[in-house]
Amino acid sequence: MIRRAAAAFAVVVLLAGCGQSTPTSQISVSPVPSPSEAPFEPASPIPVPTERETTAQPESDFTPQIAPPTTAQPESDTTTLPEPVTPAPTTAQSEPEPTPTPTPTPDFEEPNPTPILDESAPVMYLTFDDGPHPVYTPQMLDVLARYGARATFFVVGSLVEAYPGTTQRIVDEGHTLGNHTWNHEALGGLTREEFDETVGRTQALLGDRGSSCLRPPYASMDGSTRGWAAEHGLTVVTWDTSPKDWLQVSAQDVAQHIVDYARDGVVMLLHDGGGDRSQTVIGLDIALRELSSRGYRFDPLCR
Ligand SMILES: [Zn+2]
Repeated sequence: MIRRAAAAFAVVVLLAGCGQSTPTSQISVSPVPSPSEAPFEPASPIPVPTERETTAQPESDFTPQIAPPTTAQPESDTTTLPEPVTPAPTTAQSEPEPTPTPTPTPDFEEPNPTPILDESAPVMYLTFDDGPHPVYTPQMLDVLARYGARATFFVVGSLVEAYPGTTQRIVDEGHTLGNHTWNHEALGGLTREEFDETVGRTQALLGDRGSSCLRPPYASMDGSTRGWAAEHGLTVVTWDTSPKDWLQVSAQDVAQHIVDYARDGVVMLLHDGGGDRSQTVIGLDIALRELSSRGYRFDPLCR
């Protein structure tokens, strides 16, 4: 079940089609985000999915597979957030076998470990796409646990199959799982058979652990998508805003976006898989520290 506030916003997004989604007037600090999503880079040993000719997905917003390092990115001079002290561990995106790396430990004071349980507090819905990833998903879970935050992870079925332990940890720590197709296929233009294969196979693997939410990769949909999803018992959900962490954004920029767009009921798109997410891990830590101090709580979008 989707939380009511988020569901209301999702309706707005869906009414707007799969084009641009804009935040409401309550959040207007940063440029309007686009729901275009990251290119998908499955972690080893999952083979790279082949491009589908049936999709009409624009590619212009996508980051190249190999991007320059972020270390040369200038620091924002307008931020009010603390800077991460510990540099992010770097993992080559083409690395055949992800090497477990220690969770970055920003030099922050530990927040109050007690989860925020004030039901009247504003709630944000953090969502993570393209995992599970053997390196970054555990790091993301560590950060979330530090702040008593719970989220929804839109997982890729083939990666769930490859990383069952990481998937189970997501569930065990109180987060929920959403369907992000079997191999990150764009849903727009699929035949019914193809749709049933990629969505149904993923949902079957998730079983009782799966929520009733389907997030189409790239927000790619056509006139059949929502109806076919409903026949699988699934509701299509997108998102309100994203720091576009599939691009080469710094941890500071990730954090700044999350904080700038924070409001009650907002659905935030982040990524724990599909590439090097070390900056997202650090940025999330910075943002959650700030927003926790402002009284926000973080609940799963889907149950
Ligand atoms: Zn995705």
